[in-house]
Amino acid sequence: MISFGLIGFPLSHSLSPKLHEAAFKESGLQGNYRLYPVPPGDVSGLAHLVGQLRKGEIDGLNVTIPHKQSILPFLDDLSPSAAGIGAVNTLGFKDGRLIGENTDAPGFLADLRKMVPAGFSSKRAIVMGAGGAARAVVYALSGDEWSITLAVRMADFEQATLLISSFKSAGKSHILGPVLLNAEALATYVSTVDLIVNATPVGMHPETEMSPWPDEFGLPQSAVVYDLVYNPRETVLLRKAREAGNRAISGIGMLVEQAALSFEFWTGYEPSREVLLREVETR
Ligand code: NAP
Repeated sequence: MISFGLIGFPLSHSLSPKLHEAAFKESGLQGNYRLYPVPPGDVSGLAHLVGQLRKGEIDGLNVTIPHKQSILPFLDDLSPSAAGIGAVNTLGFKDGRLIGENTDAPGFLADLRKMVPAGFSSKRAIVMGAGGAARAVVYALSGDEWSITLAVRMADFEQATLLISSFKSAGKSHILGPVLLNAEALATYVSTVDLIVNATPVGMHPETEMSPWPDEFGLPQSAVVYDLVYNPRETVLLRKAREAGNRAISGIGMLVEQAALSFEFWTGYEPSREVLLREVETR
């Protein structure tokens, strides 16, 4: 019996067990997917779970907030994308070494390409946020030759500056900002933008009435709006985008993609995205 699971905190609303159980069912492999809540700062909790992984008591782990970076010292190697992003969401063994992988970045890009198959004309994006998800999105877009402006709240300015300089020193030069998330600062950038990404938790349950985009500021007409938040499926940002005639995309597709890529990393089996999406849409 294969055993996978998720480390993070809190985990009570996680959709990952449903996604991976659906992947097990579809693949014909026998396995389970457990939740391992580890509070912030609980280093011995992380060490214990990595120990179980090394002993073969667990076969693969996903990692989510707040441990995507704090788990790094426990690993033998990082995949190139995990090293570029500086965070992991998937742990497993390759050739006897414990590897940290990041499937958020390819998951985001795969879903974006699926949802907008015709592509984009100018490939200019505004990404809101400077946390782990923003790093994955910036990594994915910069690898796809996008020009990116990072927009953050004042409290996040220093973290955003560090994010940009770390990407620039890794040779990714098309990243502008940071700029503040207000109408005045964004005005310079919006006219040529064809993608806006929310990589902050703003709008997520339970604070569903919030939007990270400045209230008084309209969305650029032809921009696609992609919200990484998937709970609720339609955030205030996405509702306003839809009402303004913009294409609005929920983060549920990225969630499905990153889970499917983790499952493939562990087992070699490529689950059907449609089957996984149906699983989380119908429950
Ligand atoms: P994180 O590491 O905690 O980063 C969140 C970022 O948002 C930080 O830069 C934070 O700034 C900023 N932020 C928080 N509140 C804000 C506000 N009111 N206004 C402006 N900025 C604000 O979290 P994360 O891992 O990047 O995740 C961000 C969101 O993406 C979450 O909702 C998560 O569920 C979602 N996500 C979705 C997927 C998917 O598959 N769809 C994958 C990964 C993440 P401070 O540092 O100042 O707090």
